[in-house]
Amino acid sequence: MSDFIKDEQKRAIGAVRKALRWDVQVSREGGHGQWCAYSVRSFPSQRRHEICLPPNGGGLPYNRLSELHEYVHALLAETIHPLFGISLTGTPEQLVGAPKVRGIINEAVDWFVNGWICTKYPVAFRERLARNQTLLDPTTVEFALARDPDPLFGMATFAEMSAELRRFAKWEGQTGNSIVDEMTEEFLETDCSKPSIEALVDLVNSLVPAELDLAVVPICRDGNDPFWLVCRLSDLVPSEQPSGITSSLLAS
Ligand SMILES: [Zn+2]
Repeated sequence: MSDFIKDEQKRAIGAVRKALRWDVQVSREGGHGQWCAYSVRSFPSQRRHEICLPPNGGGLPYNRLSELHEYVHALLAETIHPLFGISLTGTPEQLVGAPKVRGIINEAVDWFVNGWICTKYPVAFRERLARNQTLLDPTTVEFALARDPDPLFGMATFAEMSAELRRFAKWEGQTGNSIVDEMTEEFLETDCSKPSIEALVDLVNSLVPAELDLAVVPICRDGNDPFWLVCRLSDLVPSEQPSGITSSLLAS
């Protein structure tokens, strides 16, 4: 990676950290219980973020763009909605219900986080777009998904990467996996440069396969930290809607 890109990533991290108003606790030891990857948890009730930046993030070398990514989660948690400050790679306690959709929620949030970075700091993001392109080769996608213990997470991850390339690098390729390519279209129908909790919830629910009959609802009550609730779509009736549900979900 060129020094030019590295410098831009450093500058971006500095600017985003400076913009944060809540306390930030950084762990570099893969702490937070089971966490061993780059991740974030935001606690609006305490105006605090926990960010894990392990030197061996998930067994990979330190990655400055991943560090920036976690800080941007925290910034969007403060400025847009606290549910942007959760990585579901390591925090199942903030997801109540079906854990099988955690990858979809994680990637939907990341669509806005990465969209924010690519819009504000396109040079800092170049490294990821170049990497995405090599990973999205149909043979690589097929090989990876066939061995993925959580294929829905894997498909959502590939779809988010594919949507980034289509949106920001004018890529016209396809992954060769019909579900991944359909999910990519759902990402692209959501403007990642305009984060909002309504757009996030709509995107999450558009990505959940219909046969799962699941609805994902943000639960946000005054004074408490929010979390995601996953329930049976067929069980939802308007009079029993949890707070925070979006109008589009009510109509479906
Ligand atoms: Zn993330």
